[in-house]
Amino acid sequence: MTVSDARSEPDGGAVFRGDLSAPDPIPEAGIEAAVKLMRDGRLFRYGEDRDTIPEAALLEQEFSDYMGSKYCVGVNSGGCALFLALKAAGVEAGDKVLVNAFTLAPVPGAVAHAGAQAVLVDIDKRLVADLDDLERKAAESGARFLMLSYMRGHIPDMDAVTALCARHGIVMIEDCAHTMGAGWNGRLTGSFGKAGCFSTQTFKHINSGEGGLIVTDDEDLAARAILLSGSYMLYAQHRARPPLEVFERHRFATPNCSMRMSGLVAALLRAQLPLLDERNARWRQIYAVLADELSGIEGISLPQRPAEEDFAPSSLQFSVADRSLDDRQIALFVDEAIAHGVHIKWFGAADPVGFTSRHDHWRYLGEGAGGGLPNADRLLHQLCDIRLPLWLSDEDCHTIAVVLREAMAKARAAAVKLYA
Ligand SMILES: *Cc1c(COP(=O)(O)O)cnc(C)c1O
Repeated sequence: MTVSDARSEPDGGAVFRGDLSAPDPIPEAGIEAAVKLMRDGRLFRYGEDRDTIPEAALLEQEFSDYMGSKYCVGVNSGGCALFLALKAAGVEAGDKVLVNAFTLAPVPGAVAHAGAQAVLVDIDKRLVADLDDLERKAAESGARFLMLSYMRGHIPDMDAVTALCARHGIVMIEDCAHTMGAGWNGRLTGSFGKAGCFSTQTFKHINSGEGGLIVTDDEDLAARAILLSGSYMLYAQHRARPPLEVFERHRFATPNCSMRMSGLVAALLRAQLPLLDERNARWRQIYAVLADELSGIEGISLPQRPAEEDFAPSSLQFSVADRSLDDRQIALFVDEAIAHGVHIKWFGAADPVGFTSRHDHWRYLGEGAGGGLPNADRLLHQLCDIRLPLWLSDEDCHTIAVVLREAMAKARAAAVKLYA
């Protein structure tokens, strides 16, 4: 499908007619599996009989096979996966958890949910955790946990991060909401830390509306996560689980937080998981085409992506790196792009909009959550984001670039007028 249409509006500008916010549909096999499950009525993942259709247990098995992890636990959202992984890893009320400052609201939310205190870490120009600031904050705070968020799919130097954690005795939990199937130097994200957490919310790599997955090789963490997620005493029905004796150590000491994955969600995901690598390959092609188109626009720059970063880009970030543009002109650029059909998001807006909020909007974290975050403040101020639906054609990418070039020209003209 192509939706490009460079037909001009009355103001003479190009217009993109696709809906960048439209999700990709569920494959027919997933729809059929979901309908079958609804006919049976067995939407809850556990049953008390032997005939239960264990869609969630099968999904966990298949995802742990994909990841090469020993264990996998399906839960009800990505944010809950993060919360449960923290609890299962032993985070207690008042503990400090290092978090890179460029992330999505559910990440500091999961830390707060666990009763812990987020310590925000600055970012560098690749939009990943700044390793010098991470080292400094690790030493200063004495935090024993790091929640590393691959926000928008950007992956730091994992050899350096892993070494840093080992040096400071830090347990790492990975937030892979934007890196399902992506890796660093041939190794999948979600396999570096003590646990990897994934989201299957509609705008992630596979779509079940709501959903989350935790992977780990740690048998105690896995058993605790299963019990915490709300398995009752039916945990034996899991497949990608540790031996039953591991549960004996935890089953009387672990609350049931009722954050289970539904069978319906698992049925939808099982049909999409086999398509994941193919989808990621297509996303990489789309990213390459659009990045190439945008590279010719003065005032727009894309973060560098090292060869080790095997990313799976369901979105593209660029900065408006023109110092002559202030807030008003960046806002004008964004408004112009949106008016011409290209729905970009801006991380620099004064107030949080849509999905996009920023560290200084999370005021519940309190003063001193990170001290100064000069790079994050500067970089996010200029940062824009475009979602990349899988149906984008090369021609669509071209039209998007034309719209952005024209919007940038207007913003720059406005800046000139203002300072003339
Ligand atoms: C979406 C997202 C989450 C949380 O996932 P939900 O399933 O929406 O709770 C966590 N981290 C990042 C970076 C995300 O984009």
